[in-house]
Amino acid sequence: MLAFLSILGVLLQVPALLPPAELRPFDHVLLVSVDGLRPDAIDGPEDGPLPAFRRLMRGPHTLQARTDADLTITLPNHVSMVTSRPVGGPLGHGWTDNVDPPAIRHGGTLHKRRGTYVASMFDVAHDRGVATAVIATKSKFALFAQSFDDENGALDAEGPDDGRCKVDLLVTARTSDDALEMALARLRTAKGRSLSLVHFGVPDFVGHSLDWDVRPGSPYRQSIAEVDGALLRLLAAIDGDPAIRGRVAIILTADHGGGVPAKTHTTNTDPLNFLIPFIVWLGADTDPQELTALNGDRRAVLPAAEWAPRDLSPPPIRSAEAGNLALQLMGLPPIPGSVANATHDLRVLPAGRTGSAAEAPGGGAR
Ligand SMILES: [Zn+2]
Repeated sequence: MLAFLSILGVLLQVPALLPPAELRPFDHVLLVSVDGLRPDAIDGPEDGPLPAFRRLMRGPHTLQARTDADLTITLPNHVSMVTSRPVGGPLGHGWTDNVDPPAIRHGGTLHKRRGTYVASMFDVAHDRGVATAVIATKSKFALFAQSFDDENGALDAEGPDDGRCKVDLLVTARTSDDALEMALARLRTAKGRSLSLVHFGVPDFVGHSLDWDVRPGSPYRQSIAEVDGALLRLLAAIDGDPAIRGRVAIILTADHGGGVPAKTHTTNTDPLNFLIPFIVWLGADTDPQELTALNGDRRAVLPAAEWAPRDLSPPPIRSAEAGNLALQLMGLPPIPGSVANATHDLRVLPAGRTGSAAEAPGGGAR
């Protein structure tokens, strides 16, 4: 009997390989950003290295997502991720700096820069009682704590007053392991639901000092293996904790690729810089769906080398969809004023299954 139970225990931990019939709201979403991650650095064989990336890519994903059209640098693209807005244009968030933000009194919030309030995924989640965190390996992410502190965040008009501070915790981590440990601690100690942005900077640090060299064994590849190791521990911890297993969704993307010009990533029209992964893990390993193909009736399907202007309609899948997708996966409404995935129409399950409460027309099983 004991032997039977232990076998059953093992069986229960084998990840399901079938896609869920429909999505139920997740309690926890981790928006993981791997700074400077080029898709061609993780596009290896199924049984190759990078076991965590391989496993995450058993969910819906694309290796041809795009950064912001106009800027392929770190902070503006992270602002796009959490606000689901482009950087430029009339609906853009307008934050183009890529250094530590100035002090609040010198204009160091998103709202002061743009002249009107710029809502984020943290606003929508926190106003509905979700615990929020920014865990980053670069100090410039303090912009989010400054923009959404208890003076500069918006009043909470939704249900119980959760306060103006929309980012409960800002951590500037020194290492990938420190970031991973903090993200795990947030998951394990969350009393209710949680939404965290977790940023791993090491591929970008290596890229700037030695270049984006994707040859096997290169320092850049090793930096991605380091992130993979952290993600592997994250997945193992989720698997091993019945309190969160099946209740955590992960969205993994990047702010930019890199290598053009050498040792940087500033040429926004070069695919080495603008192509990024966009990976969605729905709490269990499922059959890998190519996300662009899955959304071919509502997102642009472009040749990999083709740069897409900001106002292309329909748009390609961009990392800016991540903020609204996080809310979509939690069953929460879209970010006010947002542009990317603003109707929650990004499909993460095959047509005919229920991917969100707000499926746009044009779907159907075909
Ligand atoms: Zn960089």
